[in-house]
Amino acid sequence: MDDVLIIIVYNIVKPNYMRVALLGIVHESNTFVIDPTTLKKIEESRLFFDHDIILNYRNSFHELGGMIEVLEMNEIEIVPILYAEATPGGKVTKDAFHFLLHEAMTRVKQQLPFDGILVVPHGAAVCEACDDMDGYWLSQLRAIIGPQIPIIGTLDPHANVSQLMIQSTDALVAYKTNPHIDQRTVGMEAATIMVDFLLGNIKPIQSFSSLPLVIGIEQQYSEKDPYKYLLQLSAEICKMEGILSASIILGFPYADVYEMGASLIVISDGDKEIGQLAIGIFEDYIFSNKNLFIGVKHDISSIIPKMSSIEKPILLLDMGDNVGGGAPGNSIFLLDKLDEAGIHNIFICIFDPDCVNSLMGVEIGSSVEIIFGINPETFYLSTRRVTLLWKGNGKFDELKPRHGGQIHFDMGNIAIVKTVNQDIVMLTSLRIAPYSLEQLLAFNIDPTSFHVIIAKGVNAPIAAYAEICNNIFQVNTPGVTQADMTKFIYKKRRKPLFPFEND
Ligand SMILES: [Zn+2]
Repeated sequence: MDDVLIIIVYNIVKPNYMRVALLGIVHESNTFVIDPTTLKKIEESRLFFDHDIILNYRNSFHELGGMIEVLEMNEIEIVPILYAEATPGGKVTKDAFHFLLHEAMTRVKQQLPFDGILVVPHGAAVCEACDDMDGYWLSQLRAIIGPQIPIIGTLDPHANVSQLMIQSTDALVAYKTNPHIDQRTVGMEAATIMVDFLLGNIKPIQSFSSLPLVIGIEQQYSEKDPYKYLLQLSAEICKMEGILSASIILGFPYADVYEMGASLIVISDGDKEIGQLAIGIFEDYIFSNKNLFIGVKHDISSIIPKMSSIEKPILLLDMGDNVGGGAPGNSIFLLDKLDEAGIHNIFICIFDPDCVNSLMGVEIGSSVEIIFGINPETFYLSTRRVTLLWKGNGKFDELKPRHGGQIHFDMGNIAIVKTVNQDIVMLTSLRIAPYSLEQLLAFNIDPTSFHVIIAKGVNAPIAAYAEICNNIFQVNTPGVTQADMTKFIYKKRRKPLFPFEND
């Protein structure tokens, strides 16, 4: 009651006094992964309440950092509610989603009244009980705060956007770059739309088109066509009178949900027609050039012959074990193939908590035989004699703009071992996507000293590794994020969808 009184008094003193809430629930759910994403995994990753959200993200390259900057610049009171994010993986459990939903909605009710809410959904979250987890929590939020309070937010372009997400929000803006190094800028863009709307300067209208198309994962790199060209087109469209924002949603193919695939979101100012016109410009280009979006897959057998004569270190991106797409991060497929070809001096990071545990009692410098990882083609585990170089806590920080926009990383306990072939294997007890060179540097590993670095991703690791690797190969490998999406069995996806249906 006192709080309400203070707000009313402050409103009288300062007419533009405003409060804007922040709420984010982020997960990219791979429905082909059996192991679900539990509350424990979210807690091990990122779960913040109230002011801790501001403390953790104000200086980050995450969209929350951009939102906080714009709100503070405009002297708007920030009402941080909850931010939850887990490493991409299997579907979110019913219990975990129930907990997040209950916490978020209870805290939202307690914090009302506020003037607007900035939201951070990923756009590709799937719960065991609900395929459209983001649409569900956004619609619950809308039901609680009513139709008058604006809900504006960001999306990861790897979203499978639903009508419910669009209906429940006033404006959604997706990151443009992939790797996502523009998250802070996009957070600022969303927050600026919020502030302008609250000040009565604009009236955002959202236009949406669900495209009958899936874009190949290797065609989603923003430094190369066809995605690079789409971004140029988007920049041109944003110069049109009345357009506030234009987002290309690449889609997330590793989810068997109805909405799987690409889409477009355009935010126009008070004029639905101009928004629809912009959508039409995108659609015309995409439909006339649909074959550009399929991509070409390269197997390791076609890359190995090139490797002896090119500059080192060479970055091999393990597409089938893409941790950022929900894969386990424990594949030794490429390590085995390079071994067979006699290529050594490799760096690889493997998620294997059992192996880490087994090394915790071993003295540094000891030679031991260990079993780690799995080859998803042969299902063999790797047995190798190694020397233990280091063991301990795997926390590190990244201060540069990198995919995901996070500062603090935690790999749990880790062990670093050297094989007889001079390969370095970093074994972790928490899954980690390779988004930061600090993952090596903070543990005194010189990334430039290797012949080959294997990173478990497709586009996202490039932001970190392009600094030191001039030769980068996206390798078509087996696993739950294999590049050829036609190998997955989808039961729920919409039809027709190119390239599955070529019509
Ligand atoms: Zn993404």
